[in-house]
Amino acid sequence: MMNRIVWHHTGGGYSPGPEDRRAYHRLIDGDGQVHDGHHAIAANAPGRALTPGTYAAHTRGLNTGAIGVAICAMAGAGWGGAVPWTHPVKPVQVDALVAETARLCDRYGIVPGPRITLSHAEVEPTLGVVQAGKWDFDYPPRGGPGARDPIAIGDELRAEVARLLSSRPVAPDPIRPVLRQGATGQHVRDLQRLLRGPGIDGAFGPLTRRAVVEFQSRNELLPDGIVGPMTWAALAPQG
Ligand SMILES: [Zn+2]
Repeated sequence: MMNRIVWHHTGGGYSPGPEDRRAYHRLIDGDGQVHDGHHAIAANAPGRALTPGTYAAHTRGLNTGAIGVAICAMAGAGWGGAVPWTHPVKPVQVDALVAETARLCDRYGIVPGPRITLSHAEVEPTLGVVQAGKWDFDYPPRGGPGARDPIAIGDELRAEVARLLSSRPVAPDPIRPVLRQGATGQHVRDLQRLLRGPGIDGAFGPLTRRAVVEFQSRNELLPDGIVGPMTWAALAPQG
């Protein structure tokens, strides 16, 4: 359901503040620890109405389907390092950004690419969606002064994500059909067993649907009551 990841810095210190938590889905502190934001990733899912205050508004005009991941850093900084940086991005934060991006790609079936996993500063030049002078990241993210082409920087980060993803073992992919209310049979029985729900009768009725929606809500999935690849994967991560 999610189809894009946008990288940011908060423009603050090394810990996420309340405003930061509302703006992003994931926040990486100065020690490289990943924190959840205030809004669930599912709040930005396609098909959801983006009512102000109910989703993470991290990228102007590009929040639907987009996960916002922010490094907590760069307080008081100006364009291209024009102002002395009191909280520069640390390498451990970049490592965590790459690792979290790879994890989210795995989880949501996102394939990294220049239009798919990109920094805020790349959004306008690459996608043509106008941003108000956003420059996260136009500086070498692993340190050193000076402005650089955000797309070249994004390419470096995407290469790191791709390396991480390719080094991961690929889990076996059992054949599991998409299930919705009205379905019957052995796959429904498997589903009901995994849900530990009201009964295992092989018939996908309203009670099973309710159990699916509750499971999806708890697991940051789109709570649509339809059991697709994402929900199957969350139900039985080992396949
Ligand atoms: Zn940003």
